[in-house]
Amino acid sequence: MDKYTALKKYFGYTQFRSGQEKIIDCILSGKDVLAVMPTGAGKSLCFQIPALISEGTTIVISPLISLMSDQISALKENGIFAETINSAMNKAQSERVFKKAISGKYKLLYVSPERLNTPDFQLIIKNLKVPFVCVDEAHCVSHWGQDYRSSYLEIADFIASFQKRPVVAAFTATATGLVREDICRLLSLREPEITVTGFDRKNLFFEVQRPADKFTALRKCLDAHSGKSSIVYCATRKTVDEVCFRLRSLGYSASRYHAGLTADERSNNRELFVRDKVSIMVATNAFGMGIDKSDVSLVVHYNMPSDIESYYQEAGRAGRDGSQADCVLFYSHEDIKIQEYFINNPTDNENITEKEAELFRKRRKNMLRCMEAYCTSGMCLRNTILRYFGEHVFGDCGNCSVCSGVKQYTDITVDSQKALSACARAKGLCSKDELIAVLHGDSFARKDLKEIKTFGAMSDREPEFIEKVIDSLIESGFMRLSINESKNTVCNTEKARKILFDGMRLQMEYYGEVFPSAGKNKVRQERPDPVLFSILKELRKDIASRLSIPALAVFTDSVLREMSAKKPMTIEEMKKISGMSDKKIEKYAPLFLKRLNSYIKK
Ligand code: ADP
Ligand code: MG
Repeated sequence: MDKYTALKKYFGYTQFRSGQEKIIDCILSGKDVLAVMPTGAGKSLCFQIPALISEGTTIVISPLISLMSDQISALKENGIFAETINSAMNKAQSERVFKKAISGKYKLLYVSPERLNTPDFQLIIKNLKVPFVCVDEAHCVSHWGQDYRSSYLEIADFIASFQKRPVVAAFTATATGLVREDICRLLSLREPEITVTGFDRKNLFFEVQRPADKFTALRKCLDAHSGKSSIVYCATRKTVDEVCFRLRSLGYSASRYHAGLTADERSNNRELFVRDKVSIMVATNAFGMGIDKSDVSLVVHYNMPSDIESYYQEAGRAGRDGSQADCVLFYSHEDIKIQEYFINNPTDNENITEKEAELFRKRRKNMLRCMEAYCTSGMCLRNTILRYFGEHVFGDCGNCSVCSGVKQYTDITVDSQKALSACARAKGLCSKDELIAVLHGDSFARKDLKEIKTFGAMSDREPEFIEKVIDSLIESGFMRLSINESKNTVCNTEKARKILFDGMRLQMEYYGEVFPSAGKNKVRQERPDPVLFSILKELRKDIASRLSIPALAVFTDSVLREMSAKKPMTIEEMKKISGMSDKKIEKYAPLFLKRLNSYIKK
């Protein structure tokens, strides 16, 4: 079988993405490989295809059980023999896998690094033909990566323990030179072919906002993506808890993830998200590598992260299936202080000398400065990222908030008239908060103020928005704050007349719709039928829960989207949908065709 046949048969794709083919050829020709590709670029396929083509069992070393299980369920759904041996399995399970493994039944065997040098695993290896060893998330071997894992250091010994050294292929999304050097050295790669593929993710729209009120801004983003999966990254556990709590109390379907939760909570919450039981995950950067969810359509950074690399990895969890997705970063000056604090008070005080620690701090600070520049320089965001990774860029991208100038001004004339009029009627005797309550029509508003005519005049607005309007009126001198019997009250100024009576109009800066629906995202796709899409999603959910597998292992969103755009009516047409492997045609296509046909008839 050649690689193209394998690509179509097992994965249902017709074309390789940039870099994939070269890496596959390299492995097949017996050369070590270090592949640096951004999250979502399709690294798995680069080792899965040579594993399918080669004789024997490929060993895949991966840091997390969840990561392994997701990949394995996806492989199984495509009719590929793959299994994992890990610590979460009970004795009976591991014995069964062990037996099958030793007889060479699997094309791919996933293990955690801790297992490699155990006697059991060594016994398996002695009996197997291993064409190559794949090290996924290879940056874990490096102190300079974000996810350092000391057991990754044992990989070199493991490779050395083979009688005939297998080819080694290492994969990572972390691109800095330091990490790259560490990977080559610590995994003892032999003259590896180093491939760095384009870091650009064209389907991602990048945006930086400086919202006066982050939470309101967050809701706006989430609302624009409602019904889809979103991740919200926060800098601290406390913020995660707060944001998640506030979202939930407003009825959002949200869960949370951080290192302060128990292992059970973490895995439950993660599962809820991966299985589409909740649509929003609020998390610290602990919610990371294990997330093989390809249909995330929005990643918001509630706080600025520590460096561009972490940012790009985290933001890159959006749109892995190639669909349009948004990456929004909320910047405030506070965030810099939080990050500086983290740098000056590192938690993992490992056995490093003071000199090393100082060097480390210096590097981290430089990285932080680059991150800050991303948020504040006003340069094309995508180019800033790509340049950071050492890519040459030409011209602006036209697909980020800087290039497309999404910062907009909204007309607040009518809102201002309402606010000024209420303020006039309150005769300058209410505080800002009381005025907001009046305009919003809150039941807890001051009793005498409930009588005034403009009570509830802005009940269709968010209180946060009303506050912004008032702030902007104060800022531009139409209202002023005054101290009145030890209470801060607001009252109108002379200038207020201009808006109330002289027809003056007022605008306020705000961050408007920047989402694909607003046509800003340049990547065009066929328009899927939204009703059909949700019908197909339902069907997928039913199938997945019946088989107890993740919904995405049945079909990814991009497959369903293509189906609801192209509306295939026959098996032949179905085969043309990208992502339709032979196994899936056999297993699921008839069910989906049936549903499609009955929908079209209606
Ligand atoms: P990475 O490990 O690099 O972050 P994955 O291997 O998880 O990325 O792949 C991300 C998504 O891209 C998966 O849904 C995968 O099926 C899809 N993909 C990979 N290669 C191709 C291809 N050649 N054509 C279309 N989709 C692909
Ligand atoms: Mg991967």
